[in-house]
Amino acid sequence: MGMVSLGCPKNLVDSERILTKLRSDGYAMSPDYAGADVVLVNTCGFLDSAKEESLEAIGEAIAENGRVIVTGCMGKEAEVIRARFPNVLAVTGAHQYEEVVGAVHDAAPMPPSPFVNLVPDAGLKLTPRHYSYLKISEGCNHRCSFCIIPALRGDLVSRRPDAILREAEKLVEAGTKELLVISQDTSAYGVDIRKEPRAWKGGEVVPHMTDLARELGKIAPWVRLHYVYPYPHVDQVIPLMAEGLILPYLDIPFQHASPSVLRSMKRPANEAKVLERLRKWREIAPDLTIRSTFVVGFPGETEEDFEYLLQWLDEAQLDRVGAFRFEPVEGAAANDLPGAVPEEVKEERYARIMEKTAAISAAKLQAKVGRTLEVIIDEVGEEGGATGRSQADAPEIDGEVFLRDAGHLSQGDIVMVEIEDADEHDLYGVPLAG
Ligand code: SF4
Repeated sequence: MGMVSLGCPKNLVDSERILTKLRSDGYAMSPDYAGADVVLVNTCGFLDSAKEESLEAIGEAIAENGRVIVTGCMGKEAEVIRARFPNVLAVTGAHQYEEVVGAVHDAAPMPPSPFVNLVPDAGLKLTPRHYSYLKISEGCNHRCSFCIIPALRGDLVSRRPDAILREAEKLVEAGTKELLVISQDTSAYGVDIRKEPRAWKGGEVVPHMTDLARELGKIAPWVRLHYVYPYPHVDQVIPLMAEGLILPYLDIPFQHASPSVLRSMKRPANEAKVLERLRKWREIAPDLTIRSTFVVGFPGETEEDFEYLLQWLDEAQLDRVGAFRFEPVEGAAANDLPGAVPEEVKEERYARIMEKTAAISAAKLQAKVGRTLEVIIDEVGEEGGATGRSQADAPEIDGEVFLRDAGHLSQGDIVMVEIEDADEHDLYGVPLAG
């Protein structure tokens, strides 16, 4: 393939990154137009003169080679490019590495190579084979006062849905049974590319959390959603849980319940009717597990705010809760808020929230004793025991299910387990025969 890189050093770095990926996919570089199967023009659109130079470069590549993909800053003006050069194969914007690389793969498919094929299709993973994290977007449009992620990673950029689904398929082909959907804000997925549905399996997939969750549910046995904020459209994924398409599990980082603390935290989807919605969700999907995290000792949090939170937790009956004492993060707006909470008060509130949530968790787990639950096996021990997780348990952060008489099972098996006992965090049981 050939490449023409225009513009500033940032664009040059983007070109290097695209080339590195294409090279590792097995593509060779051609120094001239004639030897390339496809030419990539990485454009600059900063000034009118730069745009004109970009358009000239595209024109030259079309005249010399004919098969041209355009990327970079001028990608924002796809209509201008297409109006002048209707034959360009694809136009993508700056930083859309996945799109550019996908367009090159479409335009000039690579023959299989024994060297490239050393890397599994699903990529190299750091998790066990049977579960995989699936990142659907990068960055965040919110500006929570305690968080510097938007400053570090910028605004939300969603991956195209067909690329996510293809990755999911490869992971499942490679042995993944459980997909853990992650992002900074899963419920905001697609807001930046809403009008760009993509072809998928003879139809179209819209870049929206509900549509993506439905398609993922058709691909993997277990699909778990993390970092969901309670926007109204989250109501639409609950029926998918009731149908068994995705796991009845939502990880919603509420962080607090008191309206005044939530306001000064600048939390998204901070609305009064959350308890009412939780109740409705549970009516539709009675086994819905809700995990959340909370911060205690946020600047300005009064004893009344904290008690409001405890009372809210009594009503919300969340299944899994992680709590943190507020700590300033360098560069976060919250550091300048008045009303710092003394360390000993933070400690005391932390102990109280942990006690409350542990009691709720213990009661919820106790209610599962005697039931038969689906469990995925994480590890098989030497003395006939095994460790797994129910649908209510995400790896690393939630509880486990300890099994007896399970030596015949293998990692990644999904089996029915009769629950015999429970404690504050974990369950104990025996797999059913067959
Ligand atoms: S804490 Fe707030 S600002 Fe930070 S990533 Fe999450 S939603 Fe975005």
